Amino acid sequence: GEPGAVVLVDLDRFKEVNDTLGHHAGDELLAVVADRLRSGLRPADTLARLGGDEFALILPRSDAAAVRGLLDELSADLAREVVLDGVPVSVEASFGVALYPEHGHEVEELLRRADAAMYHGKRGSSDIVVYAGENMAHPTQWLVVQAELRHALTRDELVLHYQPKVDLRSGEIVAVEALVRWQHPQRGLLPPSEFLPAVEQSGLIEPLTAWVLRRALADQAMWTATGRSWAVSVNVSARNLEKPGFTDFVSGLLAEHGTAPHRLLLEVTETALAADARCAAQAVIDLTARGIGISVDDFGTGYTSMSQLRGLPIAEVKIDRTFVRDVLDAPPSQAIVRAVIALAHGLGSRVTAEGVESPEVAGWLAQAGCDEAQGYLYSRPVPWREVGTYEIT
Ligand code: C2E
Ligand code: CA
Ligand code: CA
Ligand code: CA
Repeated sequence: GEPGAVVLVDLDRFKEVNDTLGHHAGDELLAVVADRLRSGLRPADTLARLGGDEFALILPRSDAAAVRGLLDELSADLAREVVLDGVPVSVEASFGVALYPEHGHEVEELLRRADAAMYHGKRGSSDIVVYAGENMAHPTQWLVVQAELRHALTRDELVLHYQPKVDLRSGEIVAVEALVRWQHPQRGLLPPSEFLPAVEQSGLIEPLTAWVLRRALADQAMWTATGRSWAVSVNVSARNLEKPGFTDFVSGLLAEHGTAPHRLLLEVTETALAADARCAAQAVIDLTARGIGISVDDFGTGYTSMSQLRGLPIAEVKIDRTFVRDVLDAPPSQAIVRAVIALAHGLGSRVTAEGVESPEVAGWLAQAGCDEAQGYLYSRPVPWREVGTYEIT
């Protein structure tokens, strides 16, 4: 049929507006954006709201240059200041473009490709990007995942698996780490790498973390009732720590479940702590003041220096598995692991080694003074029923 373009429009920083000025201002902004988009269109064009802060345009135009011209105009128009509750706001947008018939025939396929193009633009610096082939596709289609995840959260499609942390001296399980998976109705059990990037990008990390915390604390209460006093570890992202009120939220959940704060550990990657040191560091201080434990995850992979951690009350440092893996035959990894253990102990933190897959590595770590270990040697992450049902040798 006729040639044309499918365009995906995503507002940059919409969430910021919504969070700082409130939903009312957010809704008003979306209405202004819809008006501005509509004003540039012809009767044969289509404008649709996709939910969140995304819009789709279907533009039947035979000339790709004309599409480009229109998008340049719309982009400039959108960037004009809007006054919301007396506050001047300018919100820019990213445009992803797929052309038909070149890039597909079905609207759904075209939207996926427009999405891939837009995502590409967001990582680069261009605000209007035309689809340029499969190399733009990223592991999981952002738009699709985003829409499906909203349902996943309400339909209980997420599940937690738990991986024990074992005390290297006693061989006992002392804690379990909650690791999220998505039981996808069509694609089966998905690992976090398949959907967490989309979660982070789409503002869903807050409800996801809230879900994980509730689930993990409920599961922990069951273990406690059957005499297993394991601490529970939950992974949190930098965005969670930056959100005002996070500490109160976590404290509230602990109170609801009757859980002592020191039995919860929040794992924060070293990179998250470094990314916005001031913000995250303050959250770490607030959480610790309430007795909640903080663990620095993937230690050694980021750019945090030990001196940056000096002022922070860190309960646990987790040595990244890339160092643990070859600790038997790589002197540099040995040196790093020994240094991390010494420094962490000097700061009063426990040390846990990730990714322990052999008894030989576990033995080396125990000799080096590492406190706890985690890895396939002891157990893969398993559903909560199965935790601790095997023998540790
Ligand atoms: P992580 O926190 O570093 O978790 C450890 C990862 O290593 C897990 O992958 C685990 O299954 C895997 N692993 C454990 N033992 C071994 C081993 O002996 N050998 C090897 N090769 N791998 C091992 P998983 O479950 O795919 O999780 C990946 C990452 O996703 C996690 O890395 C964490 O950063 C993130 N993540 C998982 N659940 C959550 C969550 O609920 N919230 C947030 N924000 N992030 C999460
Ligand atoms: Ca957005
Ligand atoms: Ca972790
Ligand atoms: Ca880790």
